[in-house]
Amino acid sequence: MRLENKIAIITGSARGMGEAEARLFAAEGCRVILADVLDQEGKEVAADIGAAAHFVHLDVTDEAEWARALEECRATYGVPDILVNNAGVLRVAPLAETTKALLHEVLDINLVGPVIGMRVVGAAMAAAGRGSIVNVSSTGGLVGMSMIDAYVASKWALRGVTKAAAIELGPAGVRVNSLHPGGVATPMTGVIGPVLGEPPAPGATDPDPALAAADERSAGQPIARTGRPIEIARLALFLASDESSYSTGSEFVADGGATAGQDLSSAF
Ligand code: NAD
Repeated sequence: MRLENKIAIITGSARGMGEAEARLFAAEGCRVILADVLDQEGKEVAADIGAAAHFVHLDVTDEAEWARALEECRATYGVPDILVNNAGVLRVAPLAETTKALLHEVLDINLVGPVIGMRVVGAAMAAAGRGSIVNVSSTGGLVGMSMIDAYVASKWALRGVTKAAAIELGPAGVRVNSLHPGGVATPMTGVIGPVLGEPPAPGATDPDPALAAADERSAGQPIARTGRPIEIARLALFLASDESSYSTGSEFVADGGATAGQDLSSAF
């Protein structure tokens, strides 16, 4: 049990990668607060996990709801050891269509929300003298990507503030790292498979046609397929657990090698 006796708050855990993290963490002995705006879906996932999971309604942009979520965590399980700032939205718009309203929407959810979460939950962790915060950024927080300018801005900023928070919270025993997934099969990318489903063996084709088609679209990567939520959840588990005890303020990438660099084999 890699998270025995630990308590986690995971935002955006009603589906996708957050759901995979909630299920994996619970299987590793953690008690998990699932926090999301999707009440019905979140309650169903929590009920399916059982006594180790509890759903709270949380819009990450709302400061009062963060305070309530922390109180509900304390009342249900105790002071959280882990916060996974996973909730996020993707809005497709090139620069020419990036309005102030769109920027505010994306930055509010993907950046302001996690920062408020770090402030509110981080203070409780610091008072307890321990904690691990995992901020889910993206490869869009490591390189530029066209068509999703507001998203890229939010994920670079989240990567940066992760380091500032790590410096501030480190002396209190709280670690803060950023996690950078590449393309992953979730509702966000319109590719939905079993949330704990394993990837196909190297060279094999996924029996699910939707996943196989998504894998095909990632064929140019060193690992030539899309990611599965469980592959990101396992990295989140490492960062959440004491196994990563010497890591803070750092970036952790799981992207099938998408940001590794250029393949020059056809140029020579
Ligand atoms: P998803 O859309 O399947 O899940 C996101 C969850 O966040 C949903 O349950 C949604 O209800 C919740 N959410 C949205 N706004 C919220 C708010 N204001 N308050 C609380 N919850 C809110 O997406 P996913 O692919 O599982 O993404 C999880 C995280 O991973 C996101 O931060 C996303 O940006 C990041 N990410 C995704 C990919 C990918 O390819 N899927 C790649 C890199 C990074």
